[in-house]
Amino acid sequence: MQPPPPPASLELLSLPTITLMITITFLIQAMAIWFNSRTVDEYKGIRAAFLATISLALGFAVILLRRMDVITGLLSNGLILTGHILIYVAICQFIGKPLNRYLIYGLVPFGYIGLIAAALLPPGGLPLITVTQLIGFPLNLAAAYMLYRADKSRYKLGAYLTALPLLVYGLVTIVRFLTGIFSPQEVLPGPSISNIFDVMSLYVLSYLWTAGFILMISQRLQSDLHDLAMNDALTRIRNRRAMQSLLDFEMRRVQTEVKDFSVILLDVDHFKRINDTHGHDVGDIVLLWMAQTLQSALRVQDIVARWGGEEFLILLPDTSLVEAMEIAERLRFLVEESIVGGTPILLNVSFSAGVANSKTNRNVNELCKVADQALYIAKQKRNRVVSQESIPIPEPG
Ligand code: GH3
Ligand code: MG
Ligand code: MG
Repeated sequence: MQPPPPPASLELLSLPTITLMITITFLIQAMAIWFNSRTVDEYKGIRAAFLATISLALGFAVILLRRMDVITGLLSNGLILTGHILIYVAICQFIGKPLNRYLIYGLVPFGYIGLIAAALLPPGGLPLITVTQLIGFPLNLAAAYMLYRADKSRYKLGAYLTALPLLVYGLVTIVRFLTGIFSPQEVLPGPSISNIFDVMSLYVLSYLWTAGFILMISQRLQSDLHDLAMNDALTRIRNRRAMQSLLDFEMRRVQTEVKDFSVILLDVDHFKRINDTHGHDVGDIVLLWMAQTLQSALRVQDIVARWGGEEFLILLPDTSLVEAMEIAERLRFLVEESIVGGTPILLNVSFSAGVANSKTNRNVNELCKVADQALYIAKQKRNRVVSQESIPIPEPG
């Protein structure tokens, strides 16, 4: 008797065709991840993601051989399971979280042993795919959960785009697993609606999670580069470039509003002496301490930037010259009275500062120049604060 013809949907998408498609898609995805790893090598997890994708590609390539024997089944399921394990590893490495002990030392060995045991059972005992699913879905869900819980502010969209397809695929696997329990025929190797649905969903979802992973890499890179470009490596506060654009922005703002802002340019006194006496490392700690002390003594909207070696520039929005002088004096007193934290010796430092306001200075250049002139006057005596009003007006002619 002739077997009944497969349903039309199965004819349209024969299992070998979609297995070939998914093998090719995993190879393309692996290539995309590999190209990324060539340009970005500072993040962990990219190599594991590449190996995961290759492992999945090979797992499906083995199915393409269409040899329905135990070795082929073991090899393809082993490779696919390894792919899912490596995805979980890649995610944990990328977000910098340790691997879960129970998953890695418990579930994973259990999975491989389970595959071997299933292969040794008589045909129809326990389908290998059931073992792969049983171990694969907790890993998919764990990877999605790790991404959800990660500190991902710098790559939020990429993280969600990776987590969501992993979560959906985890759910697909659960459904398939249950299908396998109630109708084992559906999950055995061969053309069945369930098998085709599985491969098709993997086809779409893996594209999405790889795109999400690559997006995570580029979002993180973008944010790290921005960080490097805008922050000072030693003190972690804004650098001169960042402050310059903040000043430009503030200057444009005050030109359209009635408000004004002030700046304090300060320079640590006798800093060279600190370096010479106690060493460069202690000098570095002093700078770090200065940055933290200044920032923590100010309002949230006030911004401290490292302007040069031991020079800091403070931007005080909506602050008059008189108010800025009071703030500068308060900071000067605070620094003078404090003992520098984090150094192996007891150390006191002081600074001199020049204060300028936007009302009388037309542009940022002029403002900074005036603050610098006031600082120059303060440096004559040191450990003091000088207003722009104390700058002598040049004699005409
Ligand atoms: P003054 O009171 O007139 O400001 O004297 P000073 O010694 O503070 O000023 P000077 O310009 O002579 O010396 C500044 C020193 O700051 C020289 C430089 O080596 C040091 N310096 C600049 N950047 C850093 C840094 O990142 N770390 C350390 N430890 N020292 C730095
Ligand atoms: Mg100095
Ligand atoms: Mg200096």
